[in-house]
Amino acid sequence: MSIKPSFDLIVIGGGSGGIATANRAASYGARVALVAEGPLGGTCVNVGCVPKKLFWNAAHLATSHELTHGYGLTGEAWQFDWAQFKERRDAYIQRLNSRYAEGLNNNKVELFRGHGRLQGKDQVSVDNTTLLKAPKILLATGGTPIWPEIPGAELGIDSDGFFALEQQPRRVAVVGAGYIAVELAGVFRALGSDVSLIMRRNHFLNGFEPMLREHLMEIMQVQGINLLAQRQVTQLRREDRGFCLDFVQGDCLGGLDAVVWAIGRRPLTQDLGLAEAGLQVDSDGYIAVDPYQNTAVDGIYAVGDITRAPALTPVAIAAGRRLADRIFGGQSERHLDSSLTPTVIFSHPPIATVGMSEIEARERYGDEQIKCYQPRFVPLLRAFATEPERTAMKLVTVGHDERIVGLHAIGDGVDEMLQGFAVAIRMGARKQDFDDTIAIHPTSSEEFVTMR
Ligand code: FAD
Ligand code: NDP
Repeated sequence: MSIKPSFDLIVIGGGSGGIATANRAASYGARVALVAEGPLGGTCVNVGCVPKKLFWNAAHLATSHELTHGYGLTGEAWQFDWAQFKERRDAYIQRLNSRYAEGLNNNKVELFRGHGRLQGKDQVSVDNTTLLKAPKILLATGGTPIWPEIPGAELGIDSDGFFALEQQPRRVAVVGAGYIAVELAGVFRALGSDVSLIMRRNHFLNGFEPMLREHLMEIMQVQGINLLAQRQVTQLRREDRGFCLDFVQGDCLGGLDAVVWAIGRRPLTQDLGLAEAGLQVDSDGYIAVDPYQNTAVDGIYAVGDITRAPALTPVAIAAGRRLADRIFGGQSERHLDSSLTPTVIFSHPPIATVGMSEIEARERYGDEQIKCYQPRFVPLLRAFATEPERTAMKLVTVGHDERIVGLHAIGDGVDEMLQGFAVAIRMGARKQDFDDTIAIHPTSSEEFVTMR
């Protein structure tokens, strides 16, 4: 193995968390090595947030088209050219890959392409050909989709396979009940596929404020998505007329062009040499970290999807930048507080949520402390629609001064509304602060400051 001169920090993983940490550490003058296999930008840029949001944009434009007739904009129906869209999307992502490489280069982060593996607590091998040494090592290797252990699973695809599809499947089943299942089912349907969404429970988005999922389930049914609840898949088969899913309940769903597994992700911690460095993973493969991203081994840190922090790009980035601020920027107490992490589910319409659900708040503070506000209304955008989709919002407040501990919304534009409200809630906003804020009229977001 060729041995390189020593660095101050080695980062394993060139995704959201790894790149952000490497660049921030280098900005303080640290000598940083980044070991990356796979395209730069990791999951988010290549097979996650970015291509997903481009798909969501296409789907959003398609669904918005339905409203145009009401406004007197008559004309041809749209046709979605999947292949052309994919070509443009891939080219856009390649430009982002190059920009990440340029950014690292400009910041003098030395990039090593290949598989990184710990060799003890202060060394990392790259593809067993190069050995790097540093007193500090960051693990930021992210996650990968979970596949079901059932006969025929390999006939399906995961979310990576979804992004690789060259043409649009006409009849598709999405198995799962989390962010990815809901988002992909929505995109497929909006772009014209027949979609079945297959869930183990009675509902999807378990753990989120129930109002959100109930509202979305109603809308999805109107949109024509086949919601198959309480179904557990036992096998996937190929038949003459397409793929067929068998359920433990005894029935089956056939005639499918594609089946997408969206049943969660697992951390990539298997082939990292953790044991040799004295590190262990928990029962699901995650690395335990304290609020400062320290692992159990001094000098080894972890951020992003290999930890139990919310698996979101801004969380991985924020954890990494704060870590670099702490260990190279002289900010000894800098660390991430992810307790009020805002998040958007890019469904159709989108869901925006921050803080506690009503149930969580009642459990935590007691029923008598909780007051909720819950408007539902037809947004002006849909004034001429024959069956207008409603927007629903909810504020969860606690105590006599009605501190806002949860803000939830589903409807047109809520994805772009949430960020500012998340700042207010983080600053401890009370209902009265919302009431005292002058509304912006006519918008949907004004409902947040005019609720009674
Ligand atoms: P990753 O971005 O996964 O990066 C890890 C990198 O490490 C990868 O490039 C991997 O190849 C590399 N690697 C792994 N092992 C090694 C090794 N041994 N040596 C060298 N390199 C290695 N989040 C949002 O906030 N908003 C969204 O809209 C959103 N949409 C998503 C949609 C989908 C379909 C998916 C799958 C995820 C989405 N996410 C979204 C989640 C987001 O992508 C992740 O939370 C984020 O990418 C995690 O960053 P990370 O740095 O921990 O890992
Ligand atoms: P999630 O963890 O969100 O959801 C997976 C769901 O699959 C579970 O909730 C579970 O639902 C269901 N499930 C698990 N095992 C099975 C099984 N054997 N059969 C059927 N269903 C099963 O994972 P995702 O893969 O959707 O997404 C991973 C993470 O990536 C998300 O948690 C999120 O942090 C991030 N992400 C963020 C996005 C965003 O910010 N917009 C978009 C996409 C991903 P149940 O227990 O109810 O059955």
